[in-house]
Parts: sequence; structure tokens; C-alpha cells
Amino acid sequence: MKALVYTGVEELVYREEKDPVETSGESILKVHASGICGSDMHAYHGKDERRIAPLIIGHEVSGVIQNGKFQGKNAVLNPLITCGKCEYCTSGREHLCPHRVLLGMNKPYERQGVFAELVSSPNQNIYEVPDHLDLNEAAIAEPTAVALHAVLMGESSLKKPLSECRTLVQGAGAIGLLCSLILSKIKGNKNIVMSDPNNLRLTKCSKYFEGKFVNPSDKEVQNDSFDVVFDTVGLEVSRQQAISVIKPGGTIIHIGLTQPAGQFNFRKATLQEVTFIGTYCYTNKDFEDTIKILADKKIGKLDWIEYRELKKGAEAFKQIHDGTCSSPKIVLLP
Ligand SMILES: [Zn+2]
Ligand SMILES: [Zn+2]
Repeated sequence: MKALVYTGVEELVYREEKDPVETSGESILKVHASGICGSDMHAYHGKDERRIAPLIIGHEVSGVIQNGKFQGKNAVLNPLITCGKCEYCTSGREHLCPHRVLLGMNKPYERQGVFAELVSSPNQNIYEVPDHLDLNEAAIAEPTAVALHAVLMGESSLKKPLSECRTLVQGAGAIGLLCSLILSKIKGNKNIVMSDPNNLRLTKCSKYFEGKFVNPSDKEVQNDSFDVVFDTVGLEVSRQQAISVIKPGGTIIHIGLTQPAGQFNFRKATLQEVTFIGTYCYTNKDFEDTIKILADKKIGKLDWIEYRELKKGAEAFKQIHDGTCSSPKIVLLP
């Protein structure tokens, strides 16, 4: 099969790789579409200790199952592979499994990713795609599940409905846009400010939901003025801003993780009872619910997704890296 292989820092090569072999309990997916994620960009920059070259990266995928009990079915893969036995797996919080691994990672053990013509997946990670969901669009199920989980985490901590919250979404990438779409179109939140230094991306996002679209230094982003902040960036500077602009009793949802450490105003967090929530991936139920959300067109048109050929994937990575790409999401087609 052909695959886009991460071969070293800022280096991807489209080349011939071995086909995955059939193993028991797993099926092979013929890839239809696969999305580029922020975490693939981390790997590309050589900053991910779980993704070491050479490796086929990528974990957001849709396709058609080639063998086994799902043969011939349109499917998306939940790329989060967990043990199924631990206290988290048995209580609906599979994403916290200490043995979890994602497709497209090789630490602690190897799972080849989805920037390829074929990929093998455990059967329990296969989710059928209903007929009324386009298989190209189904490829964004995974990041949509990340956003849904983040919104639900925020909702459960707040003392008023999300529809009544003044909300800041930091970052106009795929996760920022998906959180905003879920907030706006499913949770009825019409008081969203989205901030990003990249005007190209802001302008793109502004076509898809009602809100204000500003530079992070804009006067809209005032101290003590938001009930909830979604940090989809995860830089020290975005966290500093999140804690400055959150209202007393508010909630910060931390999703992006560009810089894992740095200063934080623990004084304000304590004296103003600010809730700080770290969030990662999604539960199996979130993933299932996401497929319904997409199939029922609950978050509106998805024509902000840009499709490109897998063989030109290296170019797409380079443009995302350069900031010359305005699309919140690029999906590669083999
Ligand atoms: Zn992802
Ligand atoms: Zn487990």
C-alpha cells in the first residue's frame, strides 16, 4: 500500500509500505479520508515522545471495512485503543485508561496510523457510519468527539446553563471551531467571542456561527468578563489570558497543549474559585453521540473542511506549519 510516512523532523515521505496483516479481533479498513490533527503537527515538529520516526501517523479516519464481521460497512475508527478491563474502562471513562494508545503512535507500543491506503483496527473501535452521513465528512468524527467531550466537561462544572454564559474560545483551529459550533448550535450559546492572532482563520470561522471574532489583544477580551473559557491553544500566554479574563466562579477548559508548563495565577484561581479542567479525547459514548450529531447535521454545514490528495500530504503539513493555510481542517484522500 501507499502511505505518508513521518521520517524525521518536518519530513514526510509518500512511499510504498507493507500492507497490514489480518489478526484475530481486528479488521482492516480501506481508508476513504483521514484528517490532519494538531497532534500530528506536534509529531511533525519532532515534539511528541509517543510518535517516533519512522511511523505512519494520523488517527482521524473513515473508510470501508475489508474483512470480518463488519466487511463492506462504511465506518469510522475510534483511534483510542484501551484495555477494556481497568477501573476506567469499566466505568465509561475509557479515555483515562492507563494502557491507552492511539492509532499513529509507536510508544509505548506500535500502532500504525491512518495516512495510508489501509489500516488495521481492533473490532471494538469500529463504528458504523449511517447512510445519511457522507464518508468524507465522517472523517472529522474524532476531533468533533474531542470538542463534544470538552463542552460537556465545561457544562457539568458551571452553575448556569451554557446558553447564558459569556464564552471565550481561544484558537480558530478545528477544535476551537468545533467547540463553538457545538456551543452555538446544540447548546444555544449565542454569546461567544473567538480569538486568534491569525486573521485568515478567524474570517473563515466567522462564516459558520454567530459570535465575535477578534485578535487576542482586542478590547472584547477584558479581565473578569467570561463565565467560561475554552483554551484550544495551550500556550503559556493563552493560559495567562484565560485566568485573567475568567469571572469569579468561572471555568477554564484546557484542551490544547502546545506548551505543557509555565506560570499560572494560582492566587486568582483560589480566591475567585476558578475551576480549571484539563480534558483529553472522549469517552466511547461521546464518540457514538458524535456520529449522530454529524449524521443529523446538528452543527451545520461542514464545507470548511478542505480536501487534498494523500500523496500531497507533505505539502499540506508544510502550509499548516507556515500558517499560510486558512482551513481549520485538512482531510487527505488516498
Ligand atoms: Zn486528533
Ligand atoms: Zn483500561
